[in-house]
Amino acid sequence: MDMTVPFTDVPGLFIGGEWVPPSAGRDVIVNPATEAAIGMAPMGGPKDVEAAIAAARHAFDAGPWPQMPVEDRIAVMRKFLAVLTRRGDEVKALLTAEVGVVYMLMHSAQFAGALDAAEYAIKLASRIEAEPLPIELKPNPFMPGTDIFATGVTVREPYGVVVGITPHNYPLLLNIVKAVPALLTGNTVILKPSQFTPFSALFLGHIAKEAGLPPGTLNIVTGGPEVGHQLTSDPRVDLISFTGSDSVGKAIVTQSGPTLKKLHLELGGKSAMIVRADADLQKAAAMAAFSFTLHAGQGCALLTRFLVHNSIRPAFVEMVKAIAGSLKIGNPADPTVIVGPLIRESARRKTEEYVQIGRDAGAKLVLGGKRPAGLDKGYFHEPTLFDDVDNRSRIAQDEIFGPIGVVTGFDTDDEAVALANDSRFGLNGAVMSANAGAAYRIALRLRTGGVAINGGTGDLFVKAPFGGYKHSGIGREFGPNWLNEFMAEKAITYPIG
Ligand code: NAD
Repeated sequence: MDMTVPFTDVPGLFIGGEWVPPSAGRDVIVNPATEAAIGMAPMGGPKDVEAAIAAARHAFDAGPWPQMPVEDRIAVMRKFLAVLTRRGDEVKALLTAEVGVVYMLMHSAQFAGALDAAEYAIKLASRIEAEPLPIELKPNPFMPGTDIFATGVTVREPYGVVVGITPHNYPLLLNIVKAVPALLTGNTVILKPSQFTPFSALFLGHIAKEAGLPPGTLNIVTGGPEVGHQLTSDPRVDLISFTGSDSVGKAIVTQSGPTLKKLHLELGGKSAMIVRADADLQKAAAMAAFSFTLHAGQGCALLTRFLVHNSIRPAFVEMVKAIAGSLKIGNPADPTVIVGPLIRESARRKTEEYVQIGRDAGAKLVLGGKRPAGLDKGYFHEPTLFDDVDNRSRIAQDEIFGPIGVVTGFDTDDEAVALANDSRFGLNGAVMSANAGAAYRIALRLRTGGVAINGGTGDLFVKAPFGGYKHSGIGREFGPNWLNEFMAEKAITYPIG
């Protein structure tokens, strides 16, 4: 067992402001790059879920958190963020070992992105205030000679108990993205991380204690589908904010239906990049190569489907192949590594199965397709590229969540748009073209929550709304209206004079 990874010696689950011994025992958690155990994580059971819901419910109903002025909640969350920042090096070491995050990604979305998101949520919270409704002045039809003269305000208030359920791929970012806006807006929270990444959620308990969050305001319960099922079907929970696969998203809709909760679902994707004949080919190829290999393909919004004008497709494929084939694969503890491991053997097996599915469907394997040589330990898979892919085939339609990219040709813009939209997902999209107007027209026609033209800009991460159409989800995270997902609107009206 590697005993050197920070935050892996956890006393228990974090419930009601205390560390509570888990009722379902402990599970070994391994480093996906080495397969070495990094700790024994507490696993929640029914008793823990019950205690966490009771604690969150009591903290909401009895207060003081929901009634506190938003400025006071902001002050607590600023402390929370300051502790997180101060302990940043330990957190990064944990994410490297627990998730397999490579250096480049740690210094963008995985760690720095989490801080940016929290800062942005604080900024939005500082703007929460009652909004005036219009003044209504009209003759009173029931009392001739008098007027109806009235106005009112819309106030936004917390929903109540929020359950945040997160996946394994960006655990710190997504745990922060669930907990921080929900807390800032006065809700109380139960966080349930992926069973593969429990430590990067549980350490937030230390941070909550140090920041002075009132007991029961933030509760952290680990575990798998059973724990998620219990949390999402309990009548005392008011809102579920879920990030994960479309299949689990649909299960949550069913599980939560009888107790009718507000749902926010951030689900999977199979996002297309359209490369027009006039595109900057080198830029398009580099973006494609980095996108389908980023975090070994474990990203919801990654561009993994490349729709390329047939006149430039052979050149595009050669360039992507050269770039993706040269990326260093290995243990993310080495800062020069670009492609790390998949989270578990099951994820690698799924990737391998899709390589076979692609071959069987007649697609042309042009790069990768196997485990990298010389890496006997760790769940690694080579960046893999298929050309000549039928858009209706499974490798073009299913979210693989491994480093596989697929290339399909087109001849007209209409065809490219039809192919891009021929997907059950609708999360992200991209257009590469020297003709900005044509690219914008295409962007308007894509049924996706976001479209980046010629690479877009990273500066808008968290400031632009993010979310999906179709099986990619319901609701939006980030962007100027982000906090509204965690608040109910109430109209208070009154006569004037
Ligand atoms: P997953 O859906 O298997 O699991 C996600 C979470 O749901 C885990 O915590 C899991 O324990 C829990 N869960 C499983 N069954 C449940 C049930 N019946 N009820 C309640 N909870 C349950 O996803 P994963 O493999 O951890 O992550 C990968 C998926 O997440 C991909 O589909 C990816 O696209 C998606 N994702 C989406 C976004 C986004 O913002 N749209 C971001 C990151 C990841």
